Amino acid sequence: MKNGILALALEKGLEGTGVTPAEALAITELPETSIYELLAVSERVRRTHLGVEVNLCSIVNAKSGLCKEDCSFCAQSVKYSTGVTEYPMSEPGKIVGAAKEAAAFGAREFSIVTSGTAIEKERDIAALTSALRSMKESVAMERCASLGILSRDTLMKLKESGLESYHHNLETGRSFFPKVCTTHEYDEDVEVVRTAKELGFHVCSGGIFGLGEGWDVRVELFATLKELGADSVPINFLNPRPGTPLENAQNLKPVECLKIIALGRLMMPKTDIVVCGGRQVNLRDLQPLIFAAGANGMMIGNYLTTPGREPGDDLQMLADLGLRPRGYK
Ligand code: SF4
Repeated sequence: MKNGILALALEKGLEGTGVTPAEALAITELPETSIYELLAVSERVRRTHLGVEVNLCSIVNAKSGLCKEDCSFCAQSVKYSTGVTEYPMSEPGKIVGAAKEAAAFGAREFSIVTSGTAIEKERDIAALTSALRSMKESVAMERCASLGILSRDTLMKLKESGLESYHHNLETGRSFFPKVCTTHEYDEDVEVVRTAKELGFHVCSGGIFGLGEGWDVRVELFATLKELGADSVPINFLNPRPGTPLENAQNLKPVECLKIIALGRLMMPKTDIVVCGGRQVNLRDLQPLIFAAGANGMMIGNYLTTPGREPGDDLQMLADLGLRPRGYK
């Protein structure tokens, strides 16, 4: 059975179709002792389709806190007392300055991230369009943003100002979403992803793991992302934030994190899989194995509300693994 499902995963991975949700579930049932056989398959699939280049992305938290949504993992919700720093939309110059810093430490893609359901105020949109135009003129990086449940018109306006990628996480599988967020519907998130795809953005959409979801939910999320045609799938691991409902959640075991990444790779063989928040605290010394598990991207620099590793340490890790950062255009 073990060799059968891994042989099938390799075959479907190499041909690019990926395993079905039922086959993915069979992979999750493999014993923990099979992890290195699983990584041998996921590494080969990643290398075949994506080579040795790794996409490095970085973010700026351009508007922090005071969000009226109630995502149970998030320190930026106004419903929880987390002590997170709160501030309105940053000035364009500050956003562009952060992009230049990220470019200097090796990031290829830069995302402007804001808290809240959606950016709606005209003056906030004006700050973003100004920052995007300035980035286009002065920094050679892919311009991405994560601004919530935006309308088609606002997305169009941002595209005209130079936005290339749009990020919007589904967070978890549809069946588990009501346990994570009760202030908006899953379909609202799905709709943004669909609209961004229709408008021709490079679409980055993934989720966060370690919220108490089972393997069936993880498979459900990846199946939805595959069906939506996400171009890039960010994988976050919960780093429990004091004051949130999940403050006492246990970190995932490193091997479980690797299995999640491998599952994503084997379901979506050609998609960018990018490991983002929670990498250090969940994977600890197994961080270099994310690439064997099938990741071909990672976030470097700081996360939204928590500090990241020194970018130099991440670049050294890539060099030691014989991998190299992907260039911009
Ligand atoms: S994840 Fe986003 S939408 Fe949810 S509470 Fe945090 S900032 Fe608000």
